[in-house]
Amino acid sequence: MKIQNVVAHLDQLAPPSLQESYDNSGLLVGDRNKECTGVIVCLDSTEDVIEEAIAAGCNLVVAHHPIVFSGLKRFTGSDYIERTVIKAIKHDIAIYAIHTNLDNVKHGVNGVWADALGLKNQKILSPKKGLLKKLVVFVPESDKDNVLQAMFEAGAGTIGNYAECSYSGEGNGTFKPLENANPYIGEIGKRKVEEESRVEVLLESFNASKVIAAMKKSHPYEEAAYDLLDLNNVHAEIGAGMIGDLSASVDAIEWMNRLKTIMKCGVVRYTPLHKSKIKKVAICGGSGSFLLNNAIAQGADIFVTGDFKYHQFFDAENKIIIADIGHYESEHLTIDYLVRILKEKFTTFAVLLTKVNTNPINYL
Ligand SMILES: [Zn+2]
Repeated sequence: MKIQNVVAHLDQLAPPSLQESYDNSGLLVGDRNKECTGVIVCLDSTEDVIEEAIAAGCNLVVAHHPIVFSGLKRFTGSDYIERTVIKAIKHDIAIYAIHTNLDNVKHGVNGVWADALGLKNQKILSPKKGLLKKLVVFVPESDKDNVLQAMFEAGAGTIGNYAECSYSGEGNGTFKPLENANPYIGEIGKRKVEEESRVEVLLESFNASKVIAAMKKSHPYEEAAYDLLDLNNVHAEIGAGMIGDLSASVDAIEWMNRLKTIMKCGVVRYTPLHKSKIKKVAICGGSGSFLLNNAIAQGADIFVTGDFKYHQFFDAENKIIIADIGHYESEHLTIDYLVRILKEKFTTFAVLLTKVNTNPINYL
């Protein structure tokens, strides 16, 4: 098994194209063609984690936060970022980051957390636009099912909990094969009118080339006619934060105490309790204050995240309870999850959860 096999599996879990524009997820250090000798999973790939990887004989560190975020111009070891990268390169340790792309998929940072909290009716708090496309293909009726099947197998046609969604209508297509053509039907130099189906499927932009390749492979024509159209629809399964319901209304303080245990946090900082009972819960792992208005608009009783600043707490305005549990604490379930899915997939090398507590914040 090569490092690339692990990278490909993680890329499939959270496609890198779903990362935010400011992010730097993906393979940051190392040679993807090297044999993988073991993986260490962490939130932050610090120097201590690289040391741990060296000691454990693991040559791949999978981190949530990219150690190289805004670019490096020199490698003199003057700060922890440069020292980490230098140490990793010297010891042939690869570093892979799976950051906002894992925030943005439904079963990622927030889906894992929502499951741990037992939230029902889980929905993305801020679904993304611009990720859906429509593929329209014109195909002889006799080959319609084949082409549809190929596109479904390549990942097209999924809407929420429904797979194999498509629409088709019948019509007539025309074409005239030119001199060097090798037509499936029709004759060189003569216009052909053929009964064709217009088949439409939805697909995700990051999957477009795969679906088009599958469609072309299964299409009988030498030149398949198709339209790839941008859609403005939101993608309900991709975006930031998550909202869901507790199975019953519960006392807010009691629930926050339970939250403290589940999330292993030293402290919960929260705004005035404008209501004593809560049922609808919004969450965002990491720094989620940018989602406060989404949480209010969708009727959340409480919004749990990290990194709220003093003045931002005032924005609760008795419309919602803001509960800040800390950035690290809100994401620690993520790395347990990554260990679990990597262990399930790869059995020929060790997949370890770091023993280093990389949280730079302590509580007295
Ligand atoms: Zn984070």
